[in-house]
Amino acid sequence: MSTQQLLDCSKANDFLKEYKRGDGLSAEDLMDEKVTGGITYNDLLILPGFIDFPASKVSLESKITKNITLKTPFMSSPMDTVTETDMAISMALLGGIGIIHHNCSADEQADMVRKVKKFENGFIADPMVLSPEHTVADVKEIKERYGFCGIPITDSGKMNGKLVGIVTARDIQFHDDDASLVKDIMTTDVVSAKQGVTLEQANDILRSSKKGKLPIVDESGNLVSLLSRSDLLKNQTYPLASKSPHSKQLLCGAAIGTRPDDRDRLYKLVDAGLDVVVLDSSQGNSVYQIEMIQWIKQNFKELEVIAGNVVTREQCANLIAAGADGIRIGMGSGSICITQEVMAVGRPQATAVYRVSQFANRFGVPTIADGGIGNIGHITKAVALGASAVMMGGLLAGTTESPGEYFYHEGKRLKKYRGMGSIDAMEKVSSKDGNAATKRYFSEGDSVKVAQGVVGTVMDKGSVRKFIPYLTTGLQHGLQDIGVTSVKAFREGVDAGTVRFEKRTASAQLEGGVHGLHSHEKKLFA
Ligand code: IMP
Repeated sequence: MSTQQLLDCSKANDFLKEYKRGDGLSAEDLMDEKVTGGITYNDLLILPGFIDFPASKVSLESKITKNITLKTPFMSSPMDTVTETDMAISMALLGGIGIIHHNCSADEQADMVRKVKKFENGFIADPMVLSPEHTVADVKEIKERYGFCGIPITDSGKMNGKLVGIVTARDIQFHDDDASLVKDIMTTDVVSAKQGVTLEQANDILRSSKKGKLPIVDESGNLVSLLSRSDLLKNQTYPLASKSPHSKQLLCGAAIGTRPDDRDRLYKLVDAGLDVVVLDSSQGNSVYQIEMIQWIKQNFKELEVIAGNVVTREQCANLIAAGADGIRIGMGSGSICITQEVMAVGRPQATAVYRVSQFANRFGVPTIADGGIGNIGHITKAVALGASAVMMGGLLAGTTESPGEYFYHEGKRLKKYRGMGSIDAMEKVSSKDGNAATKRYFSEGDSVKVAQGVVGTVMDKGSVRKFIPYLTTGLQHGLQDIGVTSVKAFREGVDAGTVRFEKRTASAQLEGGVHGLHSHEKKLFA
């Protein structure tokens, strides 16, 4: 026991005032590069605060651009092994947003955007469709391959053709002649519903008609979507979904380059309903990007523009001055990235996020921490350092919704994940639009392609429909531990110096990880 005179325990809180500042470091002291150099997420920790609210009450609402607010601060990277239609739909349903990649033709990219915008929860926008001239063998093949029957028949055999019938399992059950034509066995007395019907109304129709499938048709009787009873039963609701305030459609983003033909591409994307465009350059501080921002702002008044990537405030200033609505931060921090190794440029991500966000936030321009997000803790730290949202590639690759097929290697179920600056991605040349991956690195004219990324594999992570809720709940718990009830309060606390930090030495990092065990299993959520 100390020989000092003991203080009155009930005055413990008052005694704190004796200290000039709070325990730990302010964000600015933490980031003093003269002392530590640039730092990464792993080099810091946030000190806990006081909890007087449940984690479920923590609001994760945050802006990704001047005019778009999301309920969860999550974005998926514009990479061809991460974001296409399925990922973008799921991200938006869960409160984030997907940015569709541009390593494909403008038409293919616009088609993906259109599908996201047209998506209605519960309604299947691109069901299997046959024509009256197809055969029973065709129906049986679909049943065998996809495990379902209940196929709408249109005059053209395609969506948007006139609905003329439906073939159900019962129609083919006892039908042995596989050569028979669909028109001779289909049910023509189809129960359908008109476009615009709500999910609830459609549900009622399915229930009272006792049918398994409900085709939805437009005013002229053309098939526009399909509702399935089995899907309805497992239908979830998505209270956090990111939607346009006017149309109630899901929000969708897409990436483009900064070359003249990207302007034509953008017309198609906007026509498909695009909400936000990401100018996709590994080094965003260029005359091309400045001119592109200015051109977009003149031509598409409603479209939000995210510019980047940047890691310094000088880079960022040019883009803000040109009219950017959001700034994407990161150079060299991506899991598949070798930019820092090859180009000798970049910046440790925690420092980049802090320095750029601090500057951009002065102008009301939200920032996105892009690359290097490997766990929930990294997300919490990115937000603490001023980012309004995080963009993830590797963390979302390997999910059911990411493009590509699963395959097995040494007993593990994997999917491919590749950098857009990998030789593999740069060599994919789409039909008429050249290669978008090379444009990201200004290397489309080079006779020798210098890789800035690698090709790899990632483990099967299951569906993002489970993974994103895990990130959401985890982030809420992180903010609860810090004692802040919202992203906004968190940022205010950091600015005011009441949220405190600690540097994390190499041994602190070892201590903070699992250690001293013979073996362990790391199951992240249930
Ligand atoms: P991750 O989330 O750590 O996997 O990083 C994803 C981010 O890395 C993307 O959003 C891009 O900003 C960046 N990126 C994508 N492809 C490459 C590449 O080939 N080299 C460097 N960075 C890349």
